[in-house]
Amino acid sequence: MSNLDSMQRFTFDNTDVRGELVGLNKSLNSALSKHEYPEAIKIELGKLMAASALMSATLKYEGRLCLQVRLSGDVTLIQAETTNTGEIRAIARYDESKQQDIKEVELQGGQLVITLEPAVGKPYQGVVPLDSNHLNEAFEYYFKQSEQLGSRFWLVCNGITASGFMLQQLPASAESDEDAWDRLSHLASTLKEDELRDLDNQTILYRLFHEEQVRIYEETPLQFACTCSKERTGNAIAQLGFDELMDIIAEQGKISVDCQFCLQHYSFNKAQVAELFPEKKLH
Ligand SMILES: [Zn+2]
Repeated sequence: MSNLDSMQRFTFDNTDVRGELVGLNKSLNSALSKHEYPEAIKIELGKLMAASALMSATLKYEGRLCLQVRLSGDVTLIQAETTNTGEIRAIARYDESKQQDIKEVELQGGQLVITLEPAVGKPYQGVVPLDSNHLNEAFEYYFKQSEQLGSRFWLVCNGITASGFMLQQLPASAESDEDAWDRLSHLASTLKEDELRDLDNQTILYRLFHEEQVRIYEETPLQFACTCSKERTGNAIAQLGFDELMDIIAEQGKISVDCQFCLQHYSFNKAQVAELFPEKKLH
């Protein structure tokens, strides 16, 4: 199988084409283990996690890449994020009363929201309509629209492992091989889902490109990790406003919040809520 819990870049000598391979196992299972998702959601979540790792390889700065699939059926949200240091997390929202009824996730008609969140500076957001049930097509469309560059994505998940393969055209340099994109993307199109799922990176690349000068880079490890913290949670609840929060404290004695990704529990007492609003004085 594609190398697990890692991401690996490859390039082709004298061309403006690069690629990435991603494999997820422990990181996927950690993201799934805290929830009771129906199988169909696990599969789409795994594919989206693989895609977020592939896309994070295009980050040119410290920060994270967030993918959201927004839908209007029983499943309303599938979200996956990868930081530039390979920390990955994911979440799905769905109607839990339909737990037994969700046999597939209908993507068509939804939206894919791609957010690049630099650690410093403004986030950039792109929205792509989901015109089919094939997530890979939405990513290919995104790169065509936003960067006028060709890309191909393959995403597979069986609920236990997830694998992703991306081939991407780079802006052309003067001395590069002009036919390379057509030739390499054609070769890549012979990749089968079971090959991506079952073969290691070296074997996949050899099968597809054995007549090409492929350069394989060191693997980057990927691991499940949540970026939640008491401070971030405090900033989030502060959005509700001082009065609303004080009403809840009056009723319940404290504010309790569970991180939706990792289920970490955070609680804020009256004094801690007051600290979120330094301009307010308690009386
Ligand atoms: Zn968390």
